Amino acid sequence: MSSSNYSNKKTDTETFSHRARKRFGQNFLHDPHIIRRIIAAVAPQPQDHVVEIGPGQGALTTYLVDACGQLDAIELDRDLAAYLGQLFAQKENLTIHQHDVLKYDFDQLASTKELRIIGNLPYNISTPVMFHLLRYHHLIKDMSFMLQLEVVQRLCAVKDTKNYGRLSLMVQYYCEVEHLFNVPPEAFNPRPKVMSAIVRLKPYKNLPIQAKSVRCLQDVIRGAFNQRRKTIRNSMKSMIEPERLSELGIDLKLRPENLSLAEYVIISDALFDSPNTGSDTGDSQ
Ligand code: SAM
Repeated sequence: MSSSNYSNKKTDTETFSHRARKRFGQNFLHDPHIIRRIIAAVAPQPQDHVVEIGPGQGALTTYLVDACGQLDAIELDRDLAAYLGQLFAQKENLTIHQHDVLKYDFDQLASTKELRIIGNLPYNISTPVMFHLLRYHHLIKDMSFMLQLEVVQRLCAVKDTKNYGRLSLMVQYYCEVEHLFNVPPEAFNPRPKVMSAIVRLKPYKNLPIQAKSVRCLQDVIRGAFNQRRKTIRNSMKSMIEPERLSELGIDLKLRPENLSLAEYVIISDALFDSPNTGSDTGDSQ
């Protein structure tokens, strides 16, 4: 699919023709109204160090580069990275990294300035990208992402709802989450089959609830939600004895989606301090 009309900002490369690659999750934004709305929500400033994930054909890049002080753009597709290099050759504040974001070491970009991350993420890898970025939460001021609406609903989900799970808990452990607005399929070329949405994740400066071991917390949450229809007594049986859960004040009749983050941290800390016999969770960070 050729898609040269990537925004209403005129450039001399509108003749660029690129066939969207499905394996790279390429759905290019082409609705100028939506593009401007995203930029307005992010509100990049001259003092900002922005990192764009998957700049594609530059729909957002073209606005970001003029608004922020420093822009690093990470693009896996060699053709697009080369295209962007030419398109923005005059922009000294932009560095294009032809790289897989999942293997990118964000410590390289650490400076005195916190990073502002933005990306219309490839939907096939959006969850791993977010988990990768959470490892660098201390370097990041905020992250604004375009995601499938369904994923945004999981990110924002509160306990006792069907969307609440591992993604909600681990992202909410590190970040404040805000669902900004929805974006219809027509805003993209080619059109995705699903509704999309913009979400903002703001890492906490000081974590409101802190586990003794994040690795242990992740294991506990994964273990519980692997069997989300069972009661907590049964879904966690291989990790912790029911008597011990009761002593921690956990109601054994609840299901995994009924436990708060604070309750998962209580279980994880107990297992970290004194692992169960046969437990698979007593691990350090
Ligand atoms: N930002 C552009 C836009 O809004 O039109 C493109 C968004 S498109 C949904 C996702 C972009 O991420 C594509 O340009 C794709 O090549 C790139 N991409 C896919 N996998 C990637 C990876 N592992 N690392 C970096 N970029 C990737």
